Amino acid sequence: MTKEDEIPDWVGAQEFYGKYDPKEILGRGVSSVVRRCIHKQTQQDYAVKIIDVTPSDKISAAEIEEIKEATVKEIDILKKVYGMDNIIQLKDCYESKAFFFLVFDLMKRGELFDYLTEKVTLSEKETRKIMRALLEVVKFLHDENIIHRDLKPENILLDDNMDIKLTDFGFSLQIEPGQTLNEVCGTPGYLAPEIIECSMDPNHRGYGTAVDIWSSGVILYTLLAGSPPFWHRKQMMMLRMILAGNYDFTSPEWDDRSDTIKDLISRMLVVNPDQRYTAQDCLNHPFFQKYVVAEVRHFTPKRRFKVVCMTVLAVMRIYCNYRRAKPITKEVIKNDPYAIKPIRKLIDACAFKIYGHWVKKGQTQNRAALFENTPKAILLSIATEPEDSSMHSW
Ligand code: ADP
Ligand code: MG
Repeated sequence: MTKEDEIPDWVGAQEFYGKYDPKEILGRGVSSVVRRCIHKQTQQDYAVKIIDVTPSDKISAAEIEEIKEATVKEIDILKKVYGMDNIIQLKDCYESKAFFFLVFDLMKRGELFDYLTEKVTLSEKETRKIMRALLEVVKFLHDENIIHRDLKPENILLDDNMDIKLTDFGFSLQIEPGQTLNEVCGTPGYLAPEIIECSMDPNHRGYGTAVDIWSSGVILYTLLAGSPPFWHRKQMMMLRMILAGNYDFTSPEWDDRSDTIKDLISRMLVVNPDQRYTAQDCLNHPFFQKYVVAEVRHFTPKRRFKVVCMTVLAVMRIYCNYRRAKPITKEVIKNDPYAIKPIRKLIDACAFKIYGHWVKKGQTQNRAALFENTPKAILLSIATEPEDSSMHSW
């Protein structure tokens, strides 16, 4: 970092613009904007996070100082985690009096949030791949006593191979072993109960790395259900649900999900942080263990033929029984189309096609409203949109 009084305030900006050509906006935060940029010499694409630190009518000098301090911390942590798989790499950074420029590898496939909006829900297999990578990163961070504090699908980017890269270390902090924090920050729907408790009780014992496991549990639930576990149009009600750990697996999407995955979620979304799984506990959970393939037995061709026939017959019997139990008639489709899985998927996909532009990120959690699946709920949510939009990351 340069010292303000030694180098003129525009030098950092001049160096950045000398080397890179900024292009279209990829994303925005409260005080930052992320743009695609081209490295002039190599013509290679990058992403630059430009953080505005100019005092204005909207932001006080004290707030600017806070943003500056937070950005210096963000850069410091990005340097510490440099080279780690599944974490975005800071390639270059410049500082001027008015702006910070943080240059990263460009993730052309964008956010996990947008991918989920496109897919509506993910399979357990795809979720396993994403969550294993995320929890390995979280374990690495926690081993270094780093708390991310803003884990959410908007801060998880996808690279060309659809592997994840964790980004946005704006709220991250490296603590002393055993140290606890009391500062309230994060995104409402992903906040751990103990962070909310800190906002209500000045004598609270504070929180630690376990808050990231809670947010990871919220992400895991959301990837599989398509909607978040804690959501209410009124933010206060949502915070109450979080404090009570009040969520369920009652939406139809959970009918097809395994008990193993529900068990893992229920060990991550534990209100008491001391009883919550650690990242290592999560990775040791059966959901992440490779399926053990039973030893292949060698059968004679005759016996093999018999086993194949018996299997086909058993499958047919199960299939026929299933059909008999749930015959899909015109009446069923007319009265309760949402009860039939393929039709349900189609309805959800159509809702996301129509309202996808309106699905808000992070704090607003409007995905959940789409899953209520009554025209009344959707219209009501649209009507309350301005109220919801006032919710920001803290
Ligand atoms: P903020 O702290 O303002 O939330 P982020 O670092 O999360 O900033 O970036 C904001 C958004 O910009 C991200 O959610 C993402 O959509 C986009 N973005 C950030 N970094 C990259 C990148 N390296 N490649 C592509 N898009 C990015
Ligand atoms: Mg972000």
